[in-house]
Amino acid sequence: MTILVIAEHENGAVAPATLNTVAAAAKIGGDIAVLVAGQNVGGVAEAAAKIAGVAKVLVADNAAYAHQLPENVAPLVAELGKGYSHVLAPATSNGKNILPRVAALLDVDQISEIISVESADTFKRPIYAGNAIATVQSNAAVKVITVRATGFDAVAAEGGSASVETVAAAHDAGKSSFVGEELAKSDRPELTAAKIVVSGGRGMQNGDNFKHLYALADKLGAAVGASRAAVDAGFVPHDMQVGQTGKIVAPQLYIAVGISGAIQHLAGMKDSKVIVAINKDEEAPIFQVADYGLVADLFEAVPELEKLV
Ligand SMILES: Cc1cc2nc3c(=O)[nH]c(=O)nc-3n(C[C@H](O)[C@H](O)[C@H](O)COP(=O)(O)OP(=O)(O)OC[C@H]3O[C@@H](n4cnc5c(N)ncnc54)[C@H](O)[C@@H]3O)c2cc1C
Repeated sequence: MTILVIAEHENGAVAPATLNTVAAAAKIGGDIAVLVAGQNVGGVAEAAAKIAGVAKVLVADNAAYAHQLPENVAPLVAELGKGYSHVLAPATSNGKNILPRVAALLDVDQISEIISVESADTFKRPIYAGNAIATVQSNAAVKVITVRATGFDAVAAEGGSASVETVAAAHDAGKSSFVGEELAKSDRPELTAAKIVVSGGRGMQNGDNFKHLYALADKLGAAVGASRAAVDAGFVPHDMQVGQTGKIVAPQLYIAVGISGAIQHLAGMKDSKVIVAINKDEEAPIFQVADYGLVADLFEAVPELEKLV
């Protein structure tokens, strides 16, 4: 077995989801190569070479890959992927942007968001917003797979000593160009990587009231998330949404505040190690998944909790 993992990287560093994806590759077994595609990514390649269990790093350093445009990266991955039994990428926005194109170019089915590896050709993945787990067996010559990071414990970022090879191929499809980006800046940890997440729902009533959650989160070193209702109401930006159509998180501690616990929200956080729910309605479904539930008015409970931290 030979496995190609597409590295997710940003700001010159390997993104944590890459380490979970390498962990999934290690479960499949075989030689693991990591592709670093981008521009001026020498430092990323060096860091990728240190990831435990990685045998080889392929570096495609070219202006065509500067902003990870999927139209350009996908043909590169498809070309390289032909020589591998598996191509894996994290099920992040980037990975989900690139891999379906790769699967189409290789004329195989994609296996999406696996949460476990049963064998080299059999995988488990959630369906129906996580209410059922499908076991999928594939006989594709190249198995193209996105990996749900929360399903696999990250391998160590250090300890490996992979060889580094340069890939000359430059695919510029000429179909898209990078115009600009607006990056959300926050001193708080990134939602999907945070050990503690405090999320607010429609019960917060407005965006200003999220200050109670920010104050609590800052004391806990936590990230702040939200339900879709809170996001759709404009309380907070969309990149804070947790759930089926938002981000999937599995922190050590998830505190759901004024969130009812709709299945689409649970799909994004129910694998959290410890779940705490604060809701004034004791019948709220969130209490069915919560390890600790507090039936209370959040506007009293959250400031009190913050004072105690
Ligand atoms: C295709 C699809 C995809 C979706 N994807 C997502 C997704 O990714 N993420 C997501 O979150 N949702 C998603 N949804 C929406 C989901 O179905 C729910 O509508 C949403 O999660 C509800 O958000 P909420 O719990 O904040 O609001 P509500 O269901 O309105 O719950 C608000 C809660 O706050 C409590 N509350 C109110 N005031 C207080 C107070 N003062 N103190 C304490 N508690 C209080 C109430 O008791 C209530 O339980 C999706 C829906 C669809 C159809």
